[in-house]
Amino acid sequence: MSNDPKAEPGETPWAGESVFITSAVSTSGLPDGDKVEIAFAGRSNVGKSTLLNTLVGRKGLAKASNTPGRTRMLNYFHLTGNKGALDCYLVDMPGFGYARASKSEIKSWTGLVKAYLRGRVTLRRVFFLIDTRRGVMPGDKEILELLQEAAVSTQVIMTKADKLKISDRQKAYEAVKKDLKPFVIVHPDILLTSSLKKLGIDELRAAVLDLCQNI
Ligand code: GDP
Repeated sequence: MSNDPKAEPGETPWAGESVFITSAVSTSGLPDGDKVEIAFAGRSNVGKSTLLNTLVGRKGLAKASNTPGRTRMLNYFHLTGNKGALDCYLVDMPGFGYARASKSEIKSWTGLVKAYLRGRVTLRRVFFLIDTRRGVMPGDKEILELLQEAAVSTQVIMTKADKLKISDRQKAYEAVKKDLKPFVIVHPDILLTSSLKKLGIDELRAAVLDLCQNI
């Protein structure tokens, strides 16, 4: 089932293969809505590609979506897991907040994201990434408002926690929690993660597993 030479069959549902399916620039280019899907969103440089690769245990998975041209698209991966233990789409949403983005790029990004969030009935959850060091930034709030308008179930993942001392991580966590209070669509469990140190990855996997299996 798995073509991954490093995979240990039978050991974990995460030992499987995730196939890159498609990149869509408009909602008409999306694959059939035949599976549950889970999307990952966040500012550019928040650590989204690294987290996706860590989540599925494949170094190159999300690399493709970071290549120029694909950064403005919805990138689909079929998460199959070991021996078909999982069956859902992971959607790598285009990063936002590029310093050099033009007005027209921002407009097309917003158009695509709004159309996707409002129209995709199979979308189970958006994991929204926030850099632990930076906390909830004004641009993040704009996206959280979009998610709120679209009434999409959202769960926040704080990334790169290793960049802060443990005592400061707790403070950052509390500050994020406070800033998220107005957003009722946000799941109460905030995941504090580090791809580098593999912190919080098991918790994220458990959440994804739960969403992927509950069809
Ligand atoms: P993306 O633009 O959101 O896809 O971000 P990337 O995954 O490309 O990561 C941006 C930068 O942050 C890269 O230099 C990564 O090596 C770094 N990075 C990502 N995750 C972590 C982490 O958990 N800890 C640390 N210290 N750096 C990270």
